[in-house]
Amino acid sequence: MARCLRCGAQDWNRKGDAIVCADCGSTVDRVEGALNFLDSETYSKFRIVETENVSDHPYDGNAKELIAKASEIGGLVLDCGSGYKTDSYDHVIQLEIANYPNVDVLAVNQDLPFGDESFDVVFSANVLEHVNDPFLSAQEIVRVLKPGGYLYVDIPFLQAEHGYPHHYFNATREGLLRLFPHLHKIAHQVPASGHPIFTLRHVVDVYRAGLPPEVSDQFLNMDMKQLLSISDLDWLDYAVCTELDPESQWLIASTTQAILQKSGDAASPGGIHVGPTELPGFQQRVHSGKALGPEADAIHGAAGSFELSRKERELILRKRSMLSGIRRFLHS
Ligand SMILES: [Zn+2]
Repeated sequence: MARCLRCGAQDWNRKGDAIVCADCGSTVDRVEGALNFLDSETYSKFRIVETENVSDHPYDGNAKELIAKASEIGGLVLDCGSGYKTDSYDHVIQLEIANYPNVDVLAVNQDLPFGDESFDVVFSANVLEHVNDPFLSAQEIVRVLKPGGYLYVDIPFLQAEHGYPHHYFNATREGLLRLFPHLHKIAHQVPASGHPIFTLRHVVDVYRAGLPPEVSDQFLNMDMKQLLSISDLDWLDYAVCTELDPESQWLIASTTQAILQKSGDAASPGGIHVGPTELPGFQQRVHSGKALGPEADAIHGAAGSFELSRKERELILRKRSMLSGIRRFLHS
């Protein structure tokens, strides 16, 4: 069932604790019991780095039911990105990039060391946001799943950036299904463990932790009415926004932004040159750092209508500039 990552063969010879590919002779060692398919090439190709973080999600009721069902038919389960688990079963292979005590196989999600159609069930629990190519990982999962086999997957949507050790992509409900376009949907839900109250609490908690103590108090004393009564752009003048440290802003940003350049001769005729200091949106923002006080309370209820008229103005302006852009594009 194990597949050689070098040559694809599935015949192995034992050599002490290790296994040796019968075709190409590559050796897979054991590290503290786990078969180790990670080598320096895999480390650099998939940008794996050592981490002290421990990913720890115990099996829930759904997972336990699928484990029991697989056991009844003598089937096999792959826990693809198991993290640290206190439970282990003879018919559940726990795969990870970090060698926790429970781990059976060290390998990456993007290149699974198993033959096609090997497993009755695959778990991918809170893993795909951490792989640099979730579409490739999804293909690999489908490849190792037996025909008629089941995938149990969850993937964060509105979750703060967190790393074990990297965090690349969160998914909406459509995004999750898009990863597995050829699998039938049996059930799809927001699980208890994914309730939006966790989003609210987590975001508020990260926000609070990113403020200096005196501003953190202002923040924690705000009520939700106040939060909603001041419009997005007006909030940017208040200390609870200006004092939020940059790292916390990354963790819970509404969007992130970059200017990237295609490699090549930037000096080619007609090419433009631009550096971040020339772009106003990338310069240090200067704000008044207003404290929240009675004047903020006075805005209660007023922001809604104000916001609407400004949005209308913005739309009209945007429409005008879009039209001129299209004209220029058509004539170029
Ligand atoms: Zn081989």
